[in-house]
Amino acid sequence: MLKILASRLRQGHRTNRFPVEAPALPDRFRGRPVLRPEECPTGCDACARACPTRAITLEEGLAVDLGRCLFCTECTDVCPRDTALVFSGEYRLATRTSADLVVRSGSSYALAEALEARALALFGRSLKLRVVSAGGCNGCEVDVNVLGTVGWDLGRFGIQVVASPRHADAVVICGPITRNMEAGLRKTLDATPDPKLVIAVGACALSGGPYLDQEEQLCGAPGMGLPVDLFIPGCPPHPLTILDGLLRLLDKVGDGGRG
Ligand code: SF4
Ligand code: SF4
Repeated sequence: MLKILASRLRQGHRTNRFPVEAPALPDRFRGRPVLRPEECPTGCDACARACPTRAITLEEGLAVDLGRCLFCTECTDVCPRDTALVFSGEYRLATRTSADLVVRSGSSYALAEALEARALALFGRSLKLRVVSAGGCNGCEVDVNVLGTVGWDLGRFGIQVVASPRHADAVVICGPITRNMEAGLRKTLDATPDPKLVIAVGACALSGGPYLDQEEQLCGAPGMGLPVDLFIPGCPPHPLTILDGLLRLLDKVGDGGRG
């Protein structure tokens, strides 16, 4: 026992201070893109052609759909200008609607707003998550699981991952939802008591991600027609992006809804 206490004292406190203070992200972190279409050469569509998931559109001005984006930088690699499309260090990406996932120059990005008052009263102090791995590469699940480690300590916010959908308040979907996982996911959703939340994590769950054109999958939660309460982009999303989205939903970050 004394050895355990001594070891505990030696290790000290390791949980980061988010949301009071965001942990430092690596220099190579790719967050929300910044667009400067005025710097694009006339008629250039190199970025849109290079994008493997058709996340970039030019018809109504340069726009990037973070619901599809893999943050792979194929687009910036082919851009003839260094500053027309740049990935910033902005980790706050989660939204409440799929329309809000589209980044355009000159308009602000509508970050996820908190749940409505009744849902907030139900889930604000205790939110149990059932994670369903619906056919992706497992990257998103790993970054959800990271939140349970001592460095993030998800439990301090009253949020916990549970094993049974019957104990859950929210179903977290990772992966594009393969046809083989459709029935399993439906059963999980049916077994989760109402009112329940649906949280889609990662490009796969938001749109099919890199599996977009494969007919063995359903293009994520929207493709399956599920009502999604929180969209968290990324491939995979950084744990900070996931936690920021969850805390926004529960009204536990205080910087408003737009960023
Ligand atoms: S970073 Fe996103 S927008 Fe750019 S090419 Fe990759 S998927 Fe497309
Ligand atoms: S979004 Fe990317 S990291 Fe997540 S499951 Fe799909 S391929 Fe893997």
